[in-house]
Amino acid sequence: TFTSYLSNSKHRGEISLDQIKETFTNQQAYFLNGNTVDYEFRKKQLETLKQMLKDNETKIYLSLKMDLNKSKHEAFTTELGFLYTEIDFAIKNLRYWMAPDKVPSPLTHKGSKSYIMKEPYGVTLVISPWNYPLQLALAPVIGAIAAGNCVILKPSELAKSTSYLLAEMVKSYFDGSFFTVIEGGKETTTELLTYPFDYIFFTGSKNVGKVIMRAASEHLTPVTLELGGKSPAIVDQDANINLAAKRIVWGKFTNAGQTCVAPDYVIVHEKVKFRLLKAMIKQIKALYGKDPLKNKDYTRIINVQHFERLEQFLNEEKIVHGGNVDKEELLIEPTILDKVSWNDDVMKDEIFGPILPILMFTSLDDALFKIKSGDKPLALYYFGEDDKTQQQVVEYLSFGGGSINDSLYHLANPHLPFGGVGASGMGSYHGKFSFDTFSHHKSILKQTTKFDMPFRYPGGKISESIA
Ligand code: NAD
Repeated sequence: TFTSYLSNSKHRGEISLDQIKETFTNQQAYFLNGNTVDYEFRKKQLETLKQMLKDNETKIYLSLKMDLNKSKHEAFTTELGFLYTEIDFAIKNLRYWMAPDKVPSPLTHKGSKSYIMKEPYGVTLVISPWNYPLQLALAPVIGAIAAGNCVILKPSELAKSTSYLLAEMVKSYFDGSFFTVIEGGKETTTELLTYPFDYIFFTGSKNVGKVIMRAASEHLTPVTLELGGKSPAIVDQDANINLAAKRIVWGKFTNAGQTCVAPDYVIVHEKVKFRLLKAMIKQIKALYGKDPLKNKDYTRIINVQHFERLEQFLNEEKIVHGGNVDKEELLIEPTILDKVSWNDDVMKDEIFGPILPILMFTSLDDALFKIKSGDKPLALYYFGEDDKTQQQVVEYLSFGGGSINDSLYHLANPHLPFGGVGASGMGSYHGKFSFDTFSHHKSILKQTTKFDMPFRYPGGKISESIA
């Protein structure tokens, strides 16, 4: 059974090098035969993907529980429900997305018509992380399928139940020559990266992102890199403090802070710091209970290495709330650190856990300048009521995307592209942006043969030709 398989890790078969070669070759042949191109085929595959998820909901909840102790509510809102919305959106708009875009032609091109075709790349590779092990694996696949590509998906080996479940589900619902899952870690990925994929979509850390891009350059394979970074939440003195506290606490401690767009730290105006702290502590208790370590629905840390990495930030002196851990269960209580400075260790790299440092500012300009001088974050959240200041903040700083007076919410709107900039990544997806990411935009000019404008040829007079 599923659970006995999972408890017996020696059954977990990584695929051999020969099998990788065979899979890649089969997919190439499948694509070259033109199987994936027509609308009906793509629509059917998207419907199959949805059916696969519907039929396996119980197993999905179970595997997310086993990997991260995700509650059913969180598993639905942040993983399954998100995927259903994306699939429905793609099915509804597919015909329109696939249609060529007609564009004007300049006067110098009189008689011709111009349009942009959307062409699938071919055989694509999707590499995903462990923190939303279902959603971040399949959301790019929706785009790849909608755009008419074949897909090899390499999920994260750290979320091993979900990785296994993905492999099993995809095997029974899809032709492996079209869409398949290859499980494994660094070695398998390194092997996969030697193949001339037509597109690589990677979600993960900055360092591995560099490895992916380097390998892709060998074959001139285009890439999307969805990376991370330190996403700030700025709380200004005129912010609605209670709501800001609630939305930051929710954004930070959902999935125990293991969210690429989680507010990494809060930087708050000195005048409202005390009120914000008090309100955040109240919200933590309201959302996770008096003792979150005993809350059966509180997400755990993925593994002992990450747990120990996070434990180092639990500096007694700075803890103003939380700080308790349960190492057996890999749980870290929602924790707030106060009086943190930019030089503290916790401010060096993305935290990726339930620890929230609070910094303070007296001048918003100085705070913004400090943020601007660091890496461009994946997300940015500004809490404040003044329209002009809101606009100044989002104009002045460069970041992947963000929300004003909220956290995380921007990424759940399929009309907004989701992606990073600079150190937080390149390229974007969700909704139509996923389709566009996985499509080559091919320009076509269809020229008339009824006449031939003379001016381009030697001796041709421009004024006569256009007249
Ligand atoms: P990771 O980079 O360690 O792993 C991501 C994937 O790369 C996994 O499938 C893994 O097996 C593979 N991999 C790991 N080392 C490799 C190597 N040396 N060569 C080739 N492949 C390798 O990332 P993670 O720990 O799984 O995820 C956490 C990171 O991902 C955080 O930095 C987070 O911010 C980022 N993230 C970004 C987004 C986003 O949408 N931008 C979403 C979630 C997570």
